[in-house]
Amino acid sequence: MARSFDVLVLGGGVAGLSFALEAPRSAQVALLTKRGRAESNTLYFQGGIAAVLSPDDSFEAHVRDTITAGAGLNRREAVEQVVREAPAAIKGLIALGTDFTRKSNGELDLTLEGGHSKRRVVHAGDISGREVERALLAACDDRPNITFLPETTAIDLILDRSQPRGKARALGCYVLHQDGTIETLLAKVTVLATGGAGKVYLYTTNPDVATGDGVAMAYRAGATIANMEFYQFHPTCLFHPDAKSFLISEALRGEGGRLRLKGTGERFMLRYHPAGELAPRDVVARAMDAEMKRTGDEHVYLDMTHLGRAFLYERFPNISAACKQFGIDMAVAPIPVVPAAHFMCGGVVTDLEGRSSLPGLYAIGEVACTGLHGANRLASNSVLEGLVFGKHAARAVEEDLKRAPPTGPTPAEWDPGAAVPSDEAVVVTHNWEEIRRLMWNYVGIVRTGKRLARARRRLDILREEIREYYWSSKVTRDVIELRNIADVAHLIVECATRRKESRGLNYNLDYPKADDHNWLHDTIIEPG
Ligand SMILES: Cc1cc2nc3c(=O)[nH]c(=O)nc-3n(C[C@H](O)[C@H](O)[C@H](O)COP(=O)(O)OP(=O)(O)OC[C@H]3O[C@@H](n4cnc5c(N)ncnc54)[C@H](O)[C@@H]3O)c2cc1C
Repeated sequence: MARSFDVLVLGGGVAGLSFALEAPRSAQVALLTKRGRAESNTLYFQGGIAAVLSPDDSFEAHVRDTITAGAGLNRREAVEQVVREAPAAIKGLIALGTDFTRKSNGELDLTLEGGHSKRRVVHAGDISGREVERALLAACDDRPNITFLPETTAIDLILDRSQPRGKARALGCYVLHQDGTIETLLAKVTVLATGGAGKVYLYTTNPDVATGDGVAMAYRAGATIANMEFYQFHPTCLFHPDAKSFLISEALRGEGGRLRLKGTGERFMLRYHPAGELAPRDVVARAMDAEMKRTGDEHVYLDMTHLGRAFLYERFPNISAACKQFGIDMAVAPIPVVPAAHFMCGGVVTDLEGRSSLPGLYAIGEVACTGLHGANRLASNSVLEGLVFGKHAARAVEEDLKRAPPTGPTPAEWDPGAAVPSDEAVVVTHNWEEIRRLMWNYVGIVRTGKRLARARRRLDILREEIREYYWSSKVTRDVIELRNIADVAHLIVECATRRKESRGLNYNLDYPKADDHNWLHDTIIEPG
């Protein structure tokens, strides 16, 4: 049996929830989340949301900062749209009850972040994500037309097979429920809001749900994908076997933290940049990567011990408490850190309303490549992108629904084929580990043609093995995610191999300079 809705939204982070809230109240919207309703990248964002809100700031300055960060690869109309609509988006969140931090005079407290020429980042302490997610979920709960389907994993898009690949209409998706049953969900419009893919790399700041499912599904369905080589790494994630993805804020380096080598204790950043630890994020991440590759160490240290216990525990209550939990007292011992995959700039190519290249399929938020970020994301622009594009897509979908025929073609039900329960779950854990490690070692922060070729050879074998396993075993969430990280890894390698230059987040030692003459354009992966 299949269930039908007007709209299927895959994802309950800022993009999916913003879309659902703006969708017409007459439309039946199903909103799927892979785990609990709130678990998402959105839940963990710390810094805040950028918007021009002070009289000494301007849209022109925010646009300029975004394009400077994006190394000129941004799509100007997308940047203009997001920047100009940012103040209204923040007001919209406040109207929903989001409790942003304010100064004693009641004005919003705007912070300054790297790459921004003005103070323009609104935040809710250092738990902005929790507050925004809370407010959006509460608002959605007041909408009887929105049905939440938590613990429901989209497997693959359903396509109208009467049309050629790359042109076929999306008709919904097959989903896996927690009890192992598979259901066919049909809709006039399907919206991917599945977030990023940090789990493709060994170290990431992202939670477990970030396995790039939306990009992988869209790619398999024949949608156009772009710019997957531009993966942003955060320089400092806690390195500890039990800490999966704990971000050590850049504010620690801002307050005087020193990066030191594990073996000799040498403070190495000054060899790379006159600003030392305060160099731009990508420079710090590259220097750490180079030192770790040279020494073979698995991490470096961030040393805060010279700053004194009283200051550290007062200034960084959450981080010092989290470190303590892992047995590290930052007042007396340096914190082991590694750079970690943080944000996916590329993704499913969309227009300014969030439409993908496939009819009936939209993509919004981190899964999308709208042109806002270009070759590198300006801090605090991504939650904003989800808010603005969520709203645009909702308006466009409202129009689509008016024109949609009452019934579409009837797609095939899920065919389990000869699949039997797997007796070799070790294949999944082994391949999962291997992909993430090879992506880290060969397709990480610093790339070369040789490393990319090595990664490609290994990935080809792994993808083949995973494909066989996928079709012969009963589908589980682990298998779905493994197949997706393998496909996303393939897309990253493909894009990084094609781009014969270094620009933004793609740094290739064989082509260490930007080449504006040949490469001032997106890396596009078309169907076929
Ligand atoms: C630690 C951290 C700090 C950050 N700090 C900032 C910041 O200060 N400012 C900023 O602008 N950005 C920041 N970011 C980035 C920002 O949080 C994300 O880019 C943004 O929240 C993405 O929102 P989204 O709605 O696109 O996806 P997400 O919030 O990641 O939501 C994805 C949703 O999709 C669901 N999903 C995924 N796959 C499936 C599937 N197969 N089936 C069903 N559901 C699925 C998930 O369950 C989840 O509900 C930070 C990110 C992290 C991890």
